[in-house]
Amino acid sequence: MSLGLVAIVGSPSVGKSTIFNRIIGEKKSIIEETRGVTRDRIYAHTSWLTKSFDIVDTGGIELADTTFQKQIRMQVEIAIEQADVILFVVDGQIGLNEDDYLVARMLYKSKKPVVLAVNKIDDSHLINNKFEFYSLGLGEPIAVSGAHGVGIGDVLDKIVDILSKNEEKDSQLSGLRFSIIGRPNVGKSSLCNAILNENRVIVSNIEGTTRDAIDTKFIRNDREYVVIDTAGLKKRGKIYEAIDKYAALRALRAIDQSDVCLLVIDGSEGIKEQDKHVVGYAVEAKKAIIVIVNKWDLVKKDNNTMNEFTKEIRKEFKFLDYAPVIYTSAINKLRIHDIFDMLEKVYESYTFQISTSVLNDIIQEAQMMNETPNFNGGRCRIYYAQQVSSKPLTIALFVNEPSWMHFSYMRYLENRIRDSFELIGSPINLVLRKRK
Ligand code: GDP
Ligand code: GDP
Repeated sequence: MSLGLVAIVGSPSVGKSTIFNRIIGEKKSIIEETRGVTRDRIYAHTSWLTKSFDIVDTGGIELADTTFQKQIRMQVEIAIEQADVILFVVDGQIGLNEDDYLVARMLYKSKKPVVLAVNKIDDSHLINNKFEFYSLGLGEPIAVSGAHGVGIGDVLDKIVDILSKNEEKDSQLSGLRFSIIGRPNVGKSSLCNAILNENRVIVSNIEGTTRDAIDTKFIRNDREYVVIDTAGLKKRGKIYEAIDKYAALRALRAIDQSDVCLLVIDGSEGIKEQDKHVVGYAVEAKKAIIVIVNKWDLVKKDNNTMNEFTKEIRKEFKFLDYAPVIYTSAINKLRIHDIFDMLEKVYESYTFQISTSVLNDIIQEAQMMNETPNFNGGRCRIYYAQQVSSKPLTIALFVNEPSWMHFSYMRYLENRIRDSFELIGSPINLVLRKRK
């Protein structure tokens, strides 16, 4: 589980993407001397000393046709809104400048935890350059060299230290965490409003967690829920929604923080390519998923329309056959209650604990009904199965030789397990372990 999101901010060419790449340990983005260079990759999961977190290089989120100052301002706003810790990078060779003050003022006001890295200190004789940055009022500057990998460990120590404090507070957070995701204009914010308006008991935020500003907690029938990234669903967030990378960042973060993702599709427009990208993230993250077909009021229907649409969903989202589908209208408040009933069912599946003996009965019976095929030069035998974790439900299959297992047989087993326990909306993660 990710401890949170770290955002790198700073003027162009201070070395943000160099440091980003150092931290994620791969050289995936393009680094060039010229300003305004486009980057491949701006978001990654990474870890430091067993603690994992997400990191984004805001320098890669760009608005076209705008001044640098505006650009920086926007990137810092995004960082402040989304991140748990901000890594502010300045150039230790050029020295303090106006842009640094601009960023510092914004960060200072936000009260977000900031780690200040003075980059390009490639040589020990430059070390004194860091001292002038104390005047930014953001605490102790850490001298680093992104190019040579010096000081990055100190930066990471500090980041992880701050994130771990959040973790302790977060562990007090309970409840079913869900997000509402989908491409722009499908009705995500309208649905969010419909959901929150029905449930007026919105709990005050938990003191001190940095996620207060973006997530909303409420209680319904004595059960606690948290809507992830409510801020992104409000109109303010929309200024940036047209920027693909920002929208993607937002969706990725929301998905990471959720147990269940409500994937919203516009029923009046049908399934679009962009819907599939969003689904892809949620499937990859192995989250429980409910598909919401919204704006159903706009659709001309007969008795068969729903079935037809569901068929289309099954066809277009191949790896999503486990996700239930609900047809809603946020405007007419149609089936908003159904969303809650389904959230409960899906969450139950997502957190399900399978008894080992029952599980093994199912696996044995499945093998008796349908033998494992010969594949890759041998026949895979499953000796034993055991659930190893939940959220997502993960089952280890102890076998003679993992490479002999055929993909389709895994799907078959998955379906047998799903049917036996009526698991709905939750992925089942089968992993193979070799046993002599
Ligand atoms: P960004 O625009 O802030 O993401 O900056 P980049 O990472 O693209 O780096 C801008 C320029 O600074 C590139 O030419 C890098 O090679 C250079 N650079 C980055 N880190 C260092 C460093 O630690 N020392 C030196 N001397 N140059 C660096
Ligand atoms: P978001 O960008 O996904 O958050 O979408 P919004 O919630 O802002 O909705 C986009 C537009 O679709 C707005 O004009 C909404 O009023 C409209 N809309 C949202 N849900 C429905 C619905 O269920 N039926 C109809 N007819 N319009 C809707």
